[in-house]
Amino acid sequence: MAQINHHLSDQLLIGYAAATLPEAFSLVVATHISLCDECRARLGEFEAVGGALMNACAAAPVGDDALAKTMALIHQQPQEPMKPRAVAKAVFPAPLRDYAGADPSGVKWRSLGGGVRDARLPTSKDATARLLYIPAGTHLPDHGHRGLEMTLVLQGAFHDEHDRFARGDIDLANEDTHHTPIAEDGADCICLAATDAPLVFNGLLQRLAQPFLRI
Ligand code: ZN
Ligand code: ZN
Repeated sequence: MAQINHHLSDQLLIGYAAATLPEAFSLVVATHISLCDECRARLGEFEAVGGALMNACAAAPVGDDALAKTMALIHQQPQEPMKPRAVAKAVFPAPLRDYAGADPSGVKWRSLGGGVRDARLPTSKDATARLLYIPAGTHLPDHGHRGLEMTLVLQGAFHDEHDRFARGDIDLANEDTHHTPIAEDGADCICLAATDAPLVFNGLLQRLAQPFLRI
């Protein structure tokens, strides 16, 4: 498959390993990991460290040498060789199918105008997960963000003023991000996005349109 250029942060991987992320963000992390050998390997290291720490704590009262013992345990963790995985060809990787069905044709899309569609996925209410469908060549309105938005490209590609994102890439946006994403020509762009607050659109027209264009 094409090279993945934009990966998960260590914070997100540690949060995922510790099961502290909202379900919507866990879904995006799990879906990226299913496509990305690099992040899957890093997650394995964090899980090994977490397991070693738990074992060290359970095994003995904490002494002066606890840290040294913990580090020794971490180094004892067997390093499993990375197995090459079959490249996932389906638009929806396995973790997403529990939420969205087998493929985009089965999704109950809601039209947002201009050919743009979305579909909210059933996750816990502390954050929102949804699929976005952006026809090739389509601009999204210029917008900022309130809170964190994590977007994973599943099909096609988009770019904004800052960078380019194709299948497997993660785009992280926060309050400081202000951009106008454009779906590239070719395949229509399908993304999985998690947000922890509604986006803030700039400009009166966009603000008026926001109830109709929830992106
Ligand atoms: Zn990755
Ligand atoms: Zn955005």
